[in-house]
Amino acid sequence: MIEAIERAAVEAIERAVIYIPPDVKAALIKAYQEEENDVARAQLKSILDNIELAEKTMRPVCQDTGTITFYVDVGYEFPGVRYIRDSLINSVRVATQKIPLRPNSVHPFKNVNTGDNTGRYVPQIYWELVPGDSLKFTVVPKGGGSGYPTVLRMVPPGRGFDALREVVLDAVYRAGAMPCPPTIVGVGVGGGIDTAIFIAKKAATLRKIGTLNEDPELAVLEGELAKAINELGIGVMGLGGKTTVLAVHLDYSHRHPASYPVAVVFQCWASRRATAIVKPSGDFQVIQ
Ligand code: SF4
Repeated sequence: MIEAIERAAVEAIERAVIYIPPDVKAALIKAYQEEENDVARAQLKSILDNIELAEKTMRPVCQDTGTITFYVDVGYEFPGVRYIRDSLINSVRVATQKIPLRPNSVHPFKNVNTGDNTGRYVPQIYWELVPGDSLKFTVVPKGGGSGYPTVLRMVPPGRGFDALREVVLDAVYRAGAMPCPPTIVGVGVGGGIDTAIFIAKKAATLRKIGTLNEDPELAVLEGELAKAINELGIGVMGLGGKTTVLAVHLDYSHRHPASYPVAVVFQCWASRRATAIVKPSGDFQVIQ
């Protein structure tokens, strides 16, 4: 089982860093087809050529292969639960050598790179216990540039939607070209500060483009925010044009009456993810 989990994880990391998922690719193609600004069109063409080249040569789609996050759903009955953590961490070491990945795990005070993309709290692993006997995990390699402009703000609870809109637009405006637009903007509202960041990151990185928010009011708000952001005109790689965001994905948590956290997390155009499903037999499949 150790081997099966590790092989599934290495394959998922490999797929994630090389192949852009179909929903993201479709959104980039649509942006290219609808763009009228020559510079933005040229940039989108380069992005699409880059994606095609990565697929053909089986090389990572971006030089920044990110830091790895695993979102793990482990079935109550899955055999070998005790091996999952170590297998996932080891898979990152193996993938770093095999693919290879850029070593991106640096000690914050000593500035020493571990060289294998692991370290204290790296890779990040988030766990959910679910019914069933399978193991499912999604690997998200997240680039540093798109992490840089992350915002967490506490807004006056009485200002609700208005404040939320201001925080999001201000965050995108200040971010400019930094997160390599067109981006997917994840917005986490409510909860404690840790929950707001967590759900914003999940919304930016895991939710497929084109899926509707389950709450119809929030679906409308997502559309309004995306429209308002695109009207800022930052555009592809900050060079103008129609598309600054491919989507705005919003999630919320119930909150304390006295606090209203709003988190804004960016995911760059190289929005990478792949999911592995491991059966009790050790058979696995990797999907995007
Ligand atoms: S932000 Fe994304 S596209 Fe830009 S360099 Fe980092 S990983 Fe690559």
